[in-house]
Amino acid sequence: MIKSNTTFPTKFDAIVVGAGPAGAASAYVLSKKGFKVLLVDRSREAGSKELYGGRIYLGPLKEVWPDLDKKAPIHRWIKKERASIMGKDGRIITIEYNAGRRTSFTAYLPELVRWMVSKAEEEGTIFVDEVVVDELLTSDGKVVGIRSGPDEIRSDVVIDAEGVNRLLLEKLGLVSGPRPEELALGIKEVLKVRKNEINAQFNVDDDEGVAWILMGDITLGIPGGGFIYTFNETISIGIVIHMANAIRAAEAGAINHSFELVENLRLHPYFNKLWKSSDVIEYGAHLTIEDGLSFMPKRLVYPGLLIVGDAAGLILNTGYTVRGVDFAVYSGKLAAEAVEKALSEKEGATEENLKVYEDMVRKSFMYNELKRHRASKELMKDPEFFTKISRIPLKFFSELYEIDKEVPTAYEAFKNACRSEDSGPLSLMFKLWGMVKKL
Ligand SMILES: Cc1cc2nc3c(=O)[nH]c(=O)nc-3n(C[C@H](O)[C@H](O)[C@H](O)COP(=O)(O)OP(=O)(O)OC[C@H]3O[C@@H](n4cnc5c(N)ncnc54)[C@H](O)[C@@H]3O)c2cc1C
Repeated sequence: MIKSNTTFPTKFDAIVVGAGPAGAASAYVLSKKGFKVLLVDRSREAGSKELYGGRIYLGPLKEVWPDLDKKAPIHRWIKKERASIMGKDGRIITIEYNAGRRTSFTAYLPELVRWMVSKAEEEGTIFVDEVVVDELLTSDGKVVGIRSGPDEIRSDVVIDAEGVNRLLLEKLGLVSGPRPEELALGIKEVLKVRKNEINAQFNVDDDEGVAWILMGDITLGIPGGGFIYTFNETISIGIVIHMANAIRAAEAGAINHSFELVENLRLHPYFNKLWKSSDVIEYGAHLTIEDGLSFMPKRLVYPGLLIVGDAAGLILNTGYTVRGVDFAVYSGKLAAEAVEKALSEKEGATEENLKVYEDMVRKSFMYNELKRHRASKELMKDPEFFTKISRIPLKFFSELYEIDKEVPTAYEAFKNACRSEDSGPLSLMFKLWGMVKKL
């Protein structure tokens, strides 16, 4: 709803579609520079449609809001990184790393986005919620505003921050419909757990958090993984599965409903003890992007239009790190800087003038990261990595520790583990080396 004391201009310098992290950041930076900005979102309240895992990297966000680490609604700073490989039979390998520096934190994305939007409003952004943008208006091949129902609002430039669904860009013919190969499905539950219980179970202090990734049997062999993040008084647990493989698994009858995977995680005897007295207070599912570079539109700039955040394919998921929110915020900042430059030119937001955004993205750490980690995408879709290969270390440890009389040498245990998956030690080493190089 528009605030009653707001006078509504008939034309804006910029309209930002989507008040997620990308849209909120671009609106904030542009307003701070003195531009007249309209930020719209279809949700009832800023951030209320957001669903993600739970951890955000601080660095890029601080470039937009230098005091974010002191002022924003941060829950816990990630202290413990855990990674587990899970087997069918209750066998689990877990490694834990205790971080020395505070570089990432957990936050409720709806809460954080509301904070970001309030910062933009403080700088003068007009934010209107419950507005579904039906199309981007064009005139002479240039985007000139938005249409929502009967309302048409004009601006010099539109920033598309609509996220992964990209219906508006598809309508304009700038991207094709989503392909299951490029996407993953995230399913999540939020468990209410007392703060003291979280601290005791995870061995952390009040402001320290845990980021835990899981692979192996937790996804029933479907490429993907699980996650656990601790918040002040909740724990978020979830599964992310590669869409094309999930569809194949459903067609083959391997899964009935994706929510059963999260339920399996919640009820798993190894994890269940950590949230014994919990209630599920929220659940949901959301699409996410598996391979940012292949999802990226051919161009990020058109006359009068810039594309940011998920809509631009700017998200990295390496399997052990997800960087969506910080990339979204950073791309929003770059887009705002490009708009400032373009609007200072006589011809305004022409494609030529806005192209500086595309150049900035391609020179940025985000694009570099997406290119550097490209090979890991093949691995993330490879069912063998999530079945055979992840079973070998489990078998190795069971050979080594689950003994009756004789303890095998580590090499014997390794050979036996390889044999159990019809693999020789040497060919496995080569395969593993090939896989490790992709990570
Ligand atoms: C299961 C899961 C786990 C994840 N875990 C993490 C994580 O731990 N860490 C991390 O950094 N990232 C994570 N991500 C990714 C992260 O959530 C996204 O990269 C990030 O939210 C993208 O921000 P955005 O602003 O581009 O888009 P979004 O956050 O999707 O925001 C888009 C906004 O546009 C609005 N909108 C869309 N269409 C219209 C329209 N036509 N009219 C009006 N409004 C519209 C929507 O309501 C929404 O508010 C995860 C994602 C998923 C699905």
